[in-house]
Amino acid sequence: MYRLTSAQQKIVSDIVALADQAVAPQAAEIDKSAAFPRQAIAALGKAGFLGLTVPAAFGGQGQGLRTAVAALDELGRRCSSTAMVYLMHLCGVACYVAVPEKTEPQLRAAARGDHLSTLAFSERGSRSHFWAPVSRAVPDNGGVRLSAQKTFVTSAGEAHGYVVSTLDADAKRPLDSTIYLVLRGDTGLAVSGVWEGLGMRGNGSAPMTLDRVALGADRALSPRGKGLDMMLGIVLPVFQVGTAAVALGIAEAAVQATVQHVTTSRLEHMGSSLAELPVLRARLAQMRIETDRARAHLTCVLDSLEAPDASTDLLVLEAKAAATEAALTVTELGLRTCGGVALGGTLPLERLFRDARAPVVMAPTTDQAYDFIGRALCGLEVF
Ligand SMILES: Cc1cc2nc3c(=O)[nH]c(=O)nc-3n(C[C@H](O)[C@H](O)[C@H](O)COP(=O)(O)OP(=O)(O)OC[C@H]3O[C@@H](n4cnc5c(N)ncnc54)[C@H](O)[C@@H]3O)c2cc1C
Repeated sequence: MYRLTSAQQKIVSDIVALADQAVAPQAAEIDKSAAFPRQAIAALGKAGFLGLTVPAAFGGQGQGLRTAVAALDELGRRCSSTAMVYLMHLCGVACYVAVPEKTEPQLRAAARGDHLSTLAFSERGSRSHFWAPVSRAVPDNGGVRLSAQKTFVTSAGEAHGYVVSTLDADAKRPLDSTIYLVLRGDTGLAVSGVWEGLGMRGNGSAPMTLDRVALGADRALSPRGKGLDMMLGIVLPVFQVGTAAVALGIAEAAVQATVQHVTTSRLEHMGSSLAELPVLRARLAQMRIETDRARAHLTCVLDSLEAPDASTDLLVLEAKAAATEAALTVTELGLRTCGGVALGGTLPLERLFRDARAPVVMAPTTDQAYDFIGRALCGLEVF
């Protein structure tokens, strides 16, 4: 449905082959133990996929959002924790690509499979309102010192690069932020809790503390005080369509698991399968339609991003809301359709049901997106 070129399709097929072998088999165990999917990420790195969106000039595959979305959808079907780790990496890389003169070592390392990136935007003080960090950089020796309480950082402690937001040292308004690159090993950066989530249990989104981390001017990824432009202009499109793709991967997995269950489970006293119950077939049809409709919408968003016009910003805001709601509906229908065995046992539906809940509350949360879309429709300021 994403209308990939043959070259894009080949890349996604390679990711699918790798994911079937190195990602899917671990998904249930990762969910159970809440362990970070280290093996899966290492396999993606070894095959060059941490460099999927790194320009060819730095050794990467130079792919855009369409290929990334198709890859995230496929990964999301197999292990949503791995898919979310990969998405946050792609968000971080997008910031690197915006300032290659400052990030060439990280871009080259990502292309080699030696660098995992992530975002550290959410803060204890401003919660999901990532556009208004409450931490503030303090000028120090030509650079800054940064102290902050970051609440959820996907791949906390596992990533090599953290794209961090903070109020600029000279900020006059809550939106005057600057984006910095903090590297694992920088003195003062520490994981300060654990992620024991309901869903996406392996994505390691633990809190992190920055305690007077010293950053030279070369670590500023955005111009001073212009962090919001980078958040909205660079990160938001990747995050929105990427989260939508992961949610659709979860929905697709629910459809497939439900088909498998109803077609293979027997009502022996009637000599039939569950698939012969019309109500179950109708629910399956609803699941298929919801998933296809949201995927078609996401494809429209990709088309619009590739040929931007006046509707593009709105479509980008819609992307995550549409797909995450679809995933909630589809996974809930899957649970009902498969019955009691879906609540436990060997079917993946209860895991998918839990996983589908995480992207809804990732910022911009789906409820925030509704408010933003409504504001835009009413001609009000969005931020
Ligand atoms: C699995 C997972 C991974 C994450 N990974 C990262 C990461 O890598 N980097 C990062 O920076 N953050 C990450 N986050 C954090 C995420 O982006 C949100 O900041 C976080 O989930 C907000 O939780 P909270 O309890 O602080 O929500 P709160 O901000 O307290 O929100 C509570 C409720 O209020 C609603 N709400 C708030 N403001 C509005 C509004 N204006 N309009 C309508 N409703 C509103 C919210 O939708 C929510 O329902 C992650 C979160 C999760 C769950």
